[in-house]
Amino acid sequence: MARHVYGSGVAWDFSTDPEFDRKLAWMREFVREEIYPLETLQLDHATFLRIAAPLMETVREHGLWAAHLGPELGGQGYGQVKLGLMHEILGGCEFAPPIFGNQAPDSGNSEILAIAATPEQRQRWLEPLLAGEIYSAFSMTEQGTGADPTQFTTSAVLDGDEWVINGTKWFVSNVDRSHFHVLMAVTDPEAHRHERASMIIVPSDTPGIELRPISSMNDPDEMPSLHTQAEVTYTDVRVPRESLLGERGGAFALAQQRLGPGRIHHCMRWMGVCRRAFDALCERAVSKSLHGSRLADKQTVQNWVADSAAAVEAARLLTLQAAWKIDREGAEAARKEIAMIKYHGATVMHDVVDRALQIHGSFGYSTDLPLEHMYRWARAARIYDGPDEVHKVTVARSVLRGYEPRDVPSEHVPTRRAAALEKYGDLLDASALR
Ligand SMILES: Cc1cc2nc3c(=O)[nH]c(=O)nc-3n(C[C@H](O)[C@H](O)[C@H](O)COP(=O)(O)OP(=O)(O)OC[C@H]3O[C@@H](n4cnc5c(N)ncnc54)[C@H](O)[C@@H]3O)c2cc1C
Repeated sequence: MARHVYGSGVAWDFSTDPEFDRKLAWMREFVREEIYPLETLQLDHATFLRIAAPLMETVREHGLWAAHLGPELGGQGYGQVKLGLMHEILGGCEFAPPIFGNQAPDSGNSEILAIAATPEQRQRWLEPLLAGEIYSAFSMTEQGTGADPTQFTTSAVLDGDEWVINGTKWFVSNVDRSHFHVLMAVTDPEAHRHERASMIIVPSDTPGIELRPISSMNDPDEMPSLHTQAEVTYTDVRVPRESLLGERGGAFALAQQRLGPGRIHHCMRWMGVCRRAFDALCERAVSKSLHGSRLADKQTVQNWVADSAAAVEAARLLTLQAAWKIDREGAEAARKEIAMIKYHGATVMHDVVDRALQIHGSFGYSTDLPLEHMYRWARAARIYDGPDEVHKVTVARSVLRGYEPRDVPSEHVPTRRAAALEKYGDLLDASALR
């Protein structure tokens, strides 16, 4: 019989110690009272940093700065479950992650650097990145092939003691303010398709780099401070041989180490967005009457509330379970769970935000409420860090590996009946058989 194993048979325990619970309670209050208000101001990046500086200091005093990294790098060494619970709080507000020192792509890049950087690279890039003194970009996607990185063509060729880089990357976040790029480039075109590319650190001011800003659904005119994207063209860009990050040909393996836990953080942030949107949905439902009754008394709205509550809870638990598995067995062992939460969490966020927006009608569509902004981010979540379809392929392949082809279905009743007769026939009256 074919099998798909649900769970691992071990009790899951996502409870946290009282001291950490107190930290979470403090974070909830701090993010709501001190950081949410920043959303309503149209801050450019420099002004945001000025206002954020004392808030960042408070976060450091509470020992919560860059908590995704180990104590040797100034973090807390929290496992993924604890980090997930933190990200659920931070995710409710886009301004919170940078104030806690774990803004993408810097947080993921610092993880890569922590794993693979040489002592010199650590000193030059990782330390100031963690101190919040510099910013970074993750330059990987090429237009139209992001879902299949084996097709990337941006190349880095050794010329004496220098890598010479040529190619174009697409949709690189925050590159306009970054001090360096973590670039994925083909260094060994003849190698196995997963060993052709390497990671290379490229300082942003290296000659030959050109940026073209890209507008998107997340209108940069409206959110000037936090998220920008650009196309990046590298023309004969030269960096020293020592700029290689990790092993030559090791970009895929390194990217996986970065993206796995990063997806847990994304998903838990989305749960934070869901909670805000869900609160808005419920508040509106009990506040507004149309056609003779409160929206809360209409069955469609009740369905939205019930479906959203169950979906968010389920997505949250699925995400925490994936985090728990990473903590116990590592990111590679949790590949299927990570892929599952990526598309499931993004879809839940999309649906909950959509309902919250819908119940507010044109009010929800307007910028007088944050729902339209959440909606745009929810749409992007189904694409970045790998589109839904690719993660579904990963899950389906993993699940289907547990099944064997059969000429006759395992559940075929006549076949099973013959087997049952074989087993119990001696005990049965012929007259009892029809
Ligand atoms: C907000 C945002 C921020 C981003 N930031 C960064 C960044 O900082 N650095 C960076 O390098 N990239 C970044 N990206 C790019 C992101 O990683 C890519 O968009 C993503 O990997 C998908 O690649 P693509 O857009 O080239 O889609 P494509 O590869 O062109 O795929 C297009 C579509 O094809 C379909 N498809 C693909 N494969 C399959 C399959 N196996 N089965 C069925 N259908 C399939 C899917 O519907 C998919 O959406 C960002 C993207 C967004 C939206």
